Amino acid sequence: MKTVNKEDIMYSLKLMDVSEGDVLLVHSSLTSMGYVEGGADTVIDALLEAVGPEGTISMSTLTGWGSPFDADTSPSAVGDISEQFRKRAGAYRSLHPVHSVTAIGKYAEFLTRDHETCETGCGTGTPYEKLRMLKGKVLLLGVDMDRNTIMHTLEEEIDAIYLRTLDIPAPTYLKDQDVFTLKKFPPGHRDFLAITPYLRRGGAMVEGVIGQAVVKVVDIPKLFDIALTILKENPLFFICHNPNCNSCHWSRLLFDGKPIDMAQYEKNHCCDGTCEICVI
Ligand SMILES: [Zn+2]
Ligand SMILES: [Zn+2]
Repeated sequence: MKTVNKEDIMYSLKLMDVSEGDVLLVHSSLTSMGYVEGGADTVIDALLEAVGPEGTISMSTLTGWGSPFDADTSPSAVGDISEQFRKRAGAYRSLHPVHSVTAIGKYAEFLTRDHETCETGCGTGTPYEKLRMLKGKVLLLGVDMDRNTIMHTLEEEIDAIYLRTLDIPAPTYLKDQDVFTLKKFPPGHRDFLAITPYLRRGGAMVEGVIGQAVVKVVDIPKLFDIALTILKENPLFFICHNPNCNSCHWSRLLFDGKPIDMAQYEKNHCCDGTCEICVI
């Protein structure tokens, strides 16, 4: 197995044009790199050092909705690096009960402020939209476009018909409230990987490696320009054509205004309770 240290990570980031002052949204898999000396903390140190004191590192620290969200104790469901990151001294975590973002650096407070009062999880006023405003980059470290939370911001922007309203337990800071209503909530499968060749052609992405991990650095304003052009032409661009994908089949029926018989999805349901393809 490949061994990776902090200098290796910083060198690779530099090759991918990550530089001082950058604002990054990081999605990551620690094990994808091989063996990292010092583990998740080494990766976090390298990221912070790469962007320097004028830069900002942010990460999605997403949570499920089975129990009430607590910013101090609800663990990040999206990997060890994000979980260690949210526990760092000086880290700001936004208060959205599902789509929280944690950030450290120059714009950390600005990015994470008021997320809980936004109409939706990933749209206007959220950290994801602010990252676009700040001309940030998405760093996909050993994970791919299907883990890129900011793709939901694009879906919100075109008001995709398959986004849903969902009541979940209220976060712990809302003392007088039992239920929190999520609007334009995005469960289910999406073929976000389909955007990749368009980003390559449009010069919106730099690709490289860190240890054994494949890494993509995506320019957020360019991603929005390219993806919104495609989505305005085809609002179902991210909906797949797998006939066994309940989620995307449901989205197509909804888009076409056709009746939905929920019983039709029972026959190809798998046993994985968190399967994005089977969720309806
Ligand atoms: Zn699908
Ligand atoms: Zn399934």
